[in-house]
Amino acid sequence: MDLRRRLPPRPPSTTFLNQQKAVTDGEDRSPSSTKAGVIDRSPSPVPKASDALPLPLYLTNGIFFTLFFSVAYYLLHRWRDKIRSSTPLHVVTLSELAAIVSLIASFIYLLGFFGIDFVQSFITTARGEEDSFVLEGEVEHHSEPKPRIMDPLPSLALASEEDEEIVKSVVCGSVSSYSLESQLGDCLRAASIRRQALERTTGRSLLGLPLEGLDYDSILGQCCEMPVGYVQIPVGIAGPLLLNGCEYMVPMATTEGCLVASTNRGCKAIFASGGATAILLKDGMTRAPVVRFATAERASQLKFFLEDAINFDTLSVVFNKSSRFGRLQNIQCSIAGKNLYIRFTCSTGDAMGMNMVSKGVQNVLDFLQNDFPDMDVIGISGNFCSDKKPAAVNWIEGRGKSVVCEAVISEEIVKKVLKTTVHGLVELNMLKNLTGSAIAGSLGGFNAHAANIVSAVFIATGQDPAQNIESSHCITMMEAVNNGKDLHISVTMPSIEVGTVGGGTQLASQSACLNLLGVKGASIGSPGSNARLLASVVAGSVLAGELSLMSAIAAGQLVKSHMKYNRSNRDMAAIASTV
Ligand code: ADP
Repeated sequence: MDLRRRLPPRPPSTTFLNQQKAVTDGEDRSPSSTKAGVIDRSPSPVPKASDALPLPLYLTNGIFFTLFFSVAYYLLHRWRDKIRSSTPLHVVTLSELAAIVSLIASFIYLLGFFGIDFVQSFITTARGEEDSFVLEGEVEHHSEPKPRIMDPLPSLALASEEDEEIVKSVVCGSVSSYSLESQLGDCLRAASIRRQALERTTGRSLLGLPLEGLDYDSILGQCCEMPVGYVQIPVGIAGPLLLNGCEYMVPMATTEGCLVASTNRGCKAIFASGGATAILLKDGMTRAPVVRFATAERASQLKFFLEDAINFDTLSVVFNKSSRFGRLQNIQCSIAGKNLYIRFTCSTGDAMGMNMVSKGVQNVLDFLQNDFPDMDVIGISGNFCSDKKPAAVNWIEGRGKSVVCEAVISEEIVKKVLKTTVHGLVELNMLKNLTGSAIAGSLGGFNAHAANIVSAVFIATGQDPAQNIESSHCITMMEAVNNGKDLHISVTMPSIEVGTVGGGTQLASQSACLNLLGVKGASIGSPGSNARLLASVVAGSVLAGELSLMSAIAAGQLVKSHMKYNRSNRDMAAIASTV
């Protein structure tokens, strides 16, 4: 079913992507365009019969007008010549025949054109009835099983009759939900229609899940498919975090009570003790394809070739062609029988870099195929990368940014702000974060709650939350220094995967949080420095979080403070029954 037939005419550009570009360029003046968050919900214009033309109306008219008058002129000339030379008028040449056919065709078109408004007036009057007829007809012929249609829910406020028809088509399956954006050319409207269809098919209300207020154009083709709204997550602020001499207010998106307050307390203790220092140890994103050979011997030959320093320059030229920012740093191979796992590491500027590194790897694989035609590429990712899974390779070798961050907290601050003792903290760290985690067989989890802070900062700043797995690898160390009076605390995090361009970082709210930290977008002067700074801020915030939670546990305050900040007094049963 072609929705466009009953939708407002699209601008001359025929593809949806072109229209998206026009919107972002500020060129779109169509009534349903979305600009700077202001949504025009005025009723859509009535469709016109001329919408059926393959070319824009003005262009079609121009062609037929020109054709009509030029062939008429030509035929009149020929007529005059024949009269002068006494040639019979019915004897026509091939070109005259073509001219006559063109004249008739353009005449018919022009007749239709002048009569089009007249015809349109009839079409418009009968449109409502015709649409419902067509829809019913299409539903009849649809062979796929139809979803159970529940009674419309009271929360559904339909935008227009036109939208109501489309909702029905989505519900009965004659229009696919995923194609709404491309068919309608209006992302908010598509989300609204999809949402209404979803509510009807499930019989469940989405009341409480906001629809308006998100720029759906900005997520199209990049962040989320088939949107029906967005989840609201509160953003709290911890800080100032005094790190490498600069102060940062750290945005944290979380629904866990206590978390921001606790991190804030850690920031306060760090600030009062003169600040923390973060050092970036490594910066390289990885991707590891798996390739297979007929023998382990051949797989070994490729391993030796790739790890031979003589070949590195050639391979990096091939790899680096993929991007201005992706620069190959290292290739590390691991063999399992006839299979070779090749872990490429490259710098990626301010991007988190998964796309960038994958493109570079593809270039190298294509190149290797010349010298190793028997190489069978099984997958561009063979899990030796290793992305979004706990893996020792990231813990040991690092992935993304490897950062170590430290601070010395004075005895006085430990007592006054953290309400505990240096000795108590050191002992707890030894028995909990080191020994306890060892007993548990932990992989990179030698910390109290690094994942809490990493996730909250990741969500606020548009990072990939699934990369929280390896980004939260952290070992927290505590030691009494200065004759046992003060506390030296450090967090070592080998695989913080962050970027300030690409993915969710470009969305308005996430971008605002990056802006707050002073790391929004690409760093012009020093590409990569924004992403590196963001990784340092993540590590600094984890340091603050570790300090505070460990202190709460050491002081026996954990349960008490959670009962105060993390428990609602509201009647949960009553809330559940209202949904
Ligand atoms: P990712 O690899 O993290 O998925 P993408 O490769 O999709 O990110 O996005 C990065 C895009 O941003 C690339 O097209 C790159 O050319 C562009 N870009 C612009 N400035 C920078 C920068 N300073 N650092 C990294 N990429 C940048």
